[in-house]
Amino acid sequence: MSTFVPARRVSDISISPSTAAAQKARDLRNAGKDIVDMTVGEPDFDTPETVKAAGIAAIKAGETKYTPVNGTPALRDAVMHDFKRRLGLNFKSSQICVGGGGKQILFLALMASVEAGSEVIIPAPYWVSYPDMVIANGGKPVVVKCAEEDGFKLNPATLEAAITPATRWLVLNSPSNPTGAAYTEAELVALGEVLSRHPQVWVLCDEIYDQIWYTSGSAQTISAVVPAIADRTLIVNGVSKSYAMTGWRIGYAAGPQPLIDAINKLQSQMSSCPSSISQAAAAEALTGPQDFVTDSVAVYRERADLAVARLNAIPELSCLAPDGAFYLYPCCAGAIGKTTPSGQVLKSDLDFVIYLLEEVGVASIHGTAYGMSPYFRLSIATSTEVIEEACNRIEKACSQLK
Ligand code: PMP
Repeated sequence: MSTFVPARRVSDISISPSTAAAQKARDLRNAGKDIVDMTVGEPDFDTPETVKAAGIAAIKAGETKYTPVNGTPALRDAVMHDFKRRLGLNFKSSQICVGGGGKQILFLALMASVEAGSEVIIPAPYWVSYPDMVIANGGKPVVVKCAEEDGFKLNPATLEAAITPATRWLVLNSPSNPTGAAYTEAELVALGEVLSRHPQVWVLCDEIYDQIWYTSGSAQTISAVVPAIADRTLIVNGVSKSYAMTGWRIGYAAGPQPLIDAINKLQSQMSSCPSSISQAAAAEALTGPQDFVTDSVAVYRERADLAVARLNAIPELSCLAPDGAFYLYPCCAGAIGKTTPSGQVLKSDLDFVIYLLEEVGVASIHGTAYGMSPYFRLSIATSTEVIEEACNRIEKACSQLK
């Protein structure tokens, strides 16, 4: 009998804590517990009917074969026009690549560029996958904390201090998972000034939530604001979040041709291409009616307003209003050090989320998983009733602390 020993790149990383927390919530619910699940990282809306119809039409028309490695011309054109329409950016169709989700594109971009010892600057709080993706590709995540006082955003001095000759990438996720924070034009200009002094640093912009936007104006992207660094910027986006298409698995990126070519080369050996049917549906999502985006964002905004107000009324908690995305990242410092009815002293945000789960059946994710404590992440991609119920329960749990 020989036991399987995984490669270093596997033993060095962990399973996404958000997936694990969502699974725990599902297990408890299946075991008959009354659980309010606030861990979900996907829209609670169904994929728009017009988009589903485009997928079905593609099947009927026999669009069921391999596509070009970098995606169908129709989808790449749709992405190209979307970047032009929303961000004013001009890409050639060849500068767009399509993959099986934004996640896969991010992974391939790192695989295409990171060498052993390459450093990747990841502002915290961060989306849980970035550090593990860097490690799996042999690189070194350099986590820099971005304080709540700075709106959870990277400031130029912190960026400057984190850059070394080995820095390969800066990851900018705006609006952010888990905080919902987004960079303003002025903030991007200030970061761009630092980056212009360090030509070895490329910028990996994860803008998967950029259409889920609550404040005035619209989301900004660094290469539109600081064109001088466009030749070292990759913008990653996709249809998962904006068009409620998480299961269709389509993400894409736009950037400098040599990097796109390298990503395509890897994809040609890894998956050949993303699903032909999903690509047809994604093209319809980007080129068809956009009222789904407007309507769903209006609903998310109402929920965010409601939840932020409710959480800020709880003495132990405080919560910044998000600029976009569908998450809240409340601070639970006021609960740390307090004692639960069963006599346990809460020492960390992990203790706090376990207390919420066990005492009142609210499933959420501890801030430590996102690189910044003591916070916890709540998803608002769930109905208003569920959000109300979660807030009632969190309020009750906090009121029981001594
Ligand atoms: N980036 C961020 C910040 C995310 O939250 C997610 C989804 N959780 C992704 C990228 C990837 O999304 P997908 O692979 O579905 O396009």
